[in-house]
Amino acid sequence: MNTFYRTLFLLTCLLLINGTGNVLAQNYSSLVTGVNTVWTSGLPSSLFPYNGNATPIVVGNPNTASYPSIFALASVSGAGRAVGLAHEGVLGNNDISQYNNLTFALNIFNWLDINNTNQVVIASGHGEWLNYNNATTLRSNLQSNGYTVTNLNGSITAAALMGKGVLMIGNGWQTYTNAEQLVIQNYVQSGGGLLMLGLGWSWVSYNSGGLAAYPMNQIGSMFGLYWTDTNISDATNQANGQPLFTTFYPASATAMTVGDACSQIESITSTYPTNLPDVLQSNATVRTNYITAHLFMKETVKVLPTDHPLRQEVFDCYQNLINAYPAYFRKGVVYNPTTQNNFAWIRERVHRTYADALPLTPSGITQIGNTLGLSGRYWDIWTNFTVLLADNSALDTDQKEYLYKLYSAVPPALHNLRLMSFADELGTPPTASFGAIPTFLTGTLSSINSFSNTIGTYPENQFPNEVPAGIADVFCAAAPHEVNHIVDYYYIEGNATLKNRKTQLISQAGSDNMNYLRSTVASGFFVANPQEFIASIANEYFVDSKKALDLALIRYNSGRTQPLNQFLYFADLYSQNSLYHTRFYACNANCNFSYQQVAAGRDANNRLNSICYNNTQYNFTLDNDGNVTSYTTNSCNNCISEPIISGTIDVCANSNNTYTTPTVAGGTYQWIVGGGVIVSGQGTNTVMVQWINGSTPTLQVVVSQ
Ligand SMILES: [Zn+2]
Repeated sequence: MNTFYRTLFLLTCLLLINGTGNVLAQNYSSLVTGVNTVWTSGLPSSLFPYNGNATPIVVGNPNTASYPSIFALASVSGAGRAVGLAHEGVLGNNDISQYNNLTFALNIFNWLDINNTNQVVIASGHGEWLNYNNATTLRSNLQSNGYTVTNLNGSITAAALMGKGVLMIGNGWQTYTNAEQLVIQNYVQSGGGLLMLGLGWSWVSYNSGGLAAYPMNQIGSMFGLYWTDTNISDATNQANGQPLFTTFYPASATAMTVGDACSQIESITSTYPTNLPDVLQSNATVRTNYITAHLFMKETVKVLPTDHPLRQEVFDCYQNLINAYPAYFRKGVVYNPTTQNNFAWIRERVHRTYADALPLTPSGITQIGNTLGLSGRYWDIWTNFTVLLADNSALDTDQKEYLYKLYSAVPPALHNLRLMSFADELGTPPTASFGAIPTFLTGTLSSINSFSNTIGTYPENQFPNEVPAGIADVFCAAAPHEVNHIVDYYYIEGNATLKNRKTQLISQAGSDNMNYLRSTVASGFFVANPQEFIASIANEYFVDSKKALDLALIRYNSGRTQPLNQFLYFADLYSQNSLYHTRFYACNANCNFSYQQVAAGRDANNRLNSICYNNTQYNFTLDNDGNVTSYTTNSCNNCISEPIISGTIDVCANSNNTYTTPTVAGGTYQWIVGGGVIVSGQGTNTVMVQWINGSTPTLQVVVSQ
């Protein structure tokens, strides 16, 4: 008898050692038996393997936009199992009978019910979009296949899960308490099956806190399941606009780890140490492998929480790569946008992923700038504003000078820009299937794309003919337009008062284009394209703010009152809630750009109602909504004095110098340094600056109250 047991033990042991992969493979394969196509009528966002336990079961075809494009993940955790699906609609009444969705669903429940309990419980007590009450077709199909299905309408407790083979959670939006999460973890570890359905883009669009706050992710991450907000689309293999999923386990399981992706990047780079840009053009296999590895790194830092350890791995991987191949990856070489476009885009992608990998600190910003080989205004724009210019190293001195001044003039609190691309310098994005401009370069923070024409080649009047021409080159008219798309999207949309007032202004102005400050558009344009309203005002305001005011007053005097309301909205926006001033800008055909603070006042309701410019004070009477009902002018003293900075003027490279501006009651201080780094004191009235070689040392302070 002893021998018998001993033999059995050894056999079992050998089977586990040699056959782990096979055992799991057989298990995962049963999930997709008889399944050729999975589809939902809604747009799915990709899942992401949060740790090495999660295996992709259903993925998009190789040409789907975004990578990876995972529709289903499965994992084994302790004695139990878990499955995540990227859209709860796939098992809803509308879609469950489509294609092979039902077969897939029954496979999943069968695979998860390890102990053959035939007992399914559906959570309904946490705002689940797919719940016991509305999943009627799923329930009747489970019942006709021998399952008993019960409703869990309250807290998730160990008692409620006792004897149940599968717990289904269909996109819950309300908090699952720590105690409930622990119950679920213990349930799976001890042999339970967990089916989770979620929808990343939807959560992020309607809730605060991002992906890390998504209740599905708080539970799913324990089992390697993580929902992202990166949408999956497939131009060639779709029905009603949504992708048909036709790639299944085991072909689906090629999704990599960060380690795999890094190895792949290093291996390909070292194989072609001198001609990689050319190889990427001619060898489709190398190109696809290289790009997908970089996109996996991108997705890791785009979707995982800021404290996830994989982010450090991404950072280290790229730091080593750039240092090992500086000629390839640092700023400097201009790649041919026609014959080396793939590598031109990839270098910018590497810069962004590297910069996005870890939360930024002052020393981290300096380290990144040094590794990327940034100098001159590239350095200044990165270290002051943490904006990368994705320009294939091709912008000229004047273009970079303008951009430095522009970013110096826009309050940083108004935008969350991380990258500004100039796609014309980069050529066609790597392949259309990986996403259009500037999708290839996206991250958690915002990106914009703008024109890169040589300054002086495209002068354009930004104003209608009621006022003298206000000519700016397209380079310096388009850039503030694009920046203000982000001000709109990030700042205004995030502020209920500003957002509601913007909607009201468009509604008041209606379809008549002459009711808009930016009237050089077709009738009905802003009603149909409200997202262009703020950005289009910037075309005028950033070229000549005073001329925009003149235009608004001319229209007001002719009986069209709306443009003046729009002007004051923009002036108020750029005042950054200051009680004393706002910002006026001026620019010309050579993109010579300047801004100044102008005195402004507020009424008892804290609304901007006066501006003093060039010794004329404009006083506005506002109604309850903030619309101008009358205005007067009188003479005034220009009341803003530029802040004074005290400190050493003659400086040496690598020296540390201290600079001070007088304190202002309730003031905040934004220091902007060119050719140096702020070592300490940002936000206070005294800073220490370390000067570096590379560009003209300049120091500015913006004092706001
Ligand atoms: Zn636009």
